[in-house]
Amino acid sequence: MKVIKNYVNGQLVSPVFDKYIENIDPSRGKVYSMIPDSTAEDVELAVEAAEKAFPVWSSWSKEKRSDVMLKVAQLIEQRLDIFAEAESLDNGKPLSLAKSVDIPRAVSNFKFFATAILHFASESHYMESEGFNYTTRKPIGIVGCISPWNLPLYLFTWKIAPALAAGNCVIAKPSEITPMTAFMLSEICIEAGMPAGVLNILHGLGHKVGDAMTRHRKIKAISFTGGTKTGEMISSIAAPMFKKLSLELGGKNPNIIFADCDFDDALSTTMRSSFANQGQICLCGSRIFIERPIYEKFKAAFVEKTKNSLVSYPTDPKAKLGAVVSESHMQKILAYVQLAKEEGGTILTGGERVLLEGEYKDGYYLKPTIIEGLSYNCRVNQEEIFGPVVTITPFDTEEEALMMANSTQYGLAATVWTTNLKKAHRVADNLQSGIVWINSWLVRDLRTPFGGVKASGVGREGGFEALRFFTETKNVFVKS
Ligand code: NDP
Repeated sequence: MKVIKNYVNGQLVSPVFDKYIENIDPSRGKVYSMIPDSTAEDVELAVEAAEKAFPVWSSWSKEKRSDVMLKVAQLIEQRLDIFAEAESLDNGKPLSLAKSVDIPRAVSNFKFFATAILHFASESHYMESEGFNYTTRKPIGIVGCISPWNLPLYLFTWKIAPALAAGNCVIAKPSEITPMTAFMLSEICIEAGMPAGVLNILHGLGHKVGDAMTRHRKIKAISFTGGTKTGEMISSIAAPMFKKLSLELGGKNPNIIFADCDFDDALSTTMRSSFANQGQICLCGSRIFIERPIYEKFKAAFVEKTKNSLVSYPTDPKAKLGAVVSESHMQKILAYVQLAKEEGGTILTGGERVLLEGEYKDGYYLKPTIIEGLSYNCRVNQEEIFGPVVTITPFDTEEEALMMANSTQYGLAATVWTTNLKKAHRVADNLQSGIVWINSWLVRDLRTPFGGVKASGVGREGGFEALRFFTETKNVFVKS
């Protein structure tokens, strides 16, 4: 059985107390590797290593740092198939998705920030008769990056790449549920010649090693992606120490589909935005509001397509959905389906476990599920489920659609479907959301600001926003 190691001071090491936890393959429901159960003592070693490395890494030219990062990107790209297989096994997602989305995006993250740093400029402000200001942006020092299980390497690298490019040394923790590709990344960093201590990867439980990272006084910033409750806990610890915080949290995203939309495009994209990655993408639209004149037509077509979406083991090339990430997550999703029934909803399709045969008989598979007949403010329509479960609701006016869309505590992403240009802009403007897609979904330009409002987060990732987060700003005034 494969035993994962921590990556500290440039080496693959066992955790200080030599304790391990089980890593489960969700497609079979079986333990297939062991991962370090790291503690505060491991964080201490990583901080010592990062402290030693920081003066060197931060004084390297941008070009030299960029070269190492581009090498990392190149090595992942060369092993794309192996990485995709590992990601799919660890997470349960279809292999085709890991190959086409997760791993290519991890490569892009490294390439993007390795080159973005070369164009990162600071401002100067000229004050006619008085003088001028110039602004410097320097690396913070040691920063912590904590990421979730749904897009493991994709989101892990989305954080560490800008942190490293800006000249910081990083202590990073992937989700304990999906550690494998982060471990493989440590091997690649060694091969790429990343100096010891610049990136340290610690595996283990959030409430142990994640908590110890959050509490460590020498870790000056925390970039976190995960659930809103965890984000709340992290900020309650980090804020009194005045750490910089970037929090990308949960969502309950609305899709607003007007009667004048391109019906086929809206339908096929809604299939993806509902069930891609088994609905476990923070940007998935889980509340679908459909204008009444096309409600019945859309419902019939959507249910039909969903019934035909194949749920299968991740390496099945025909699989549209694979396994959800863990048994407890599967039970949580099923509990919400039960709650939907209690709240008066009708399950139009799905709502139950799929039992495969043979070696996959114990895997965590769920049918994609559509529910109707729920009020916009019931729990199922207000709480994040984070699985292949969506609700559909008719609306009569734009105002009503906006009121329902904006009614949750969340505000991460939204989609709007209409061919009326003015209406599209007006609705986008009135949505309480950090990201809006008009007639599309999940089109990502890495230069754009990424993040949510309300309980969906604090701060923005992406492009120069991320480089600004991972640097400290100083303004210097010079009298003329
Ligand atoms: P969690 O909040 O449970 O975990 C996220 C990470 O935080 C994991 O590495 C976890 O470790 C760690 N963690 C848990 N507790 C603590 C703690 N007390 N201190 C420090 N770290 C801790 O989220 P999930 O992994 O379940 O991910 C799903 C959530 O992520 C959903 O709510 C989803 O919406 C959100 N998400 C948001 C995105 C965005 O961009 N806004 C993008 C993707 C997901 P461990 O694995 O051991 O629990």
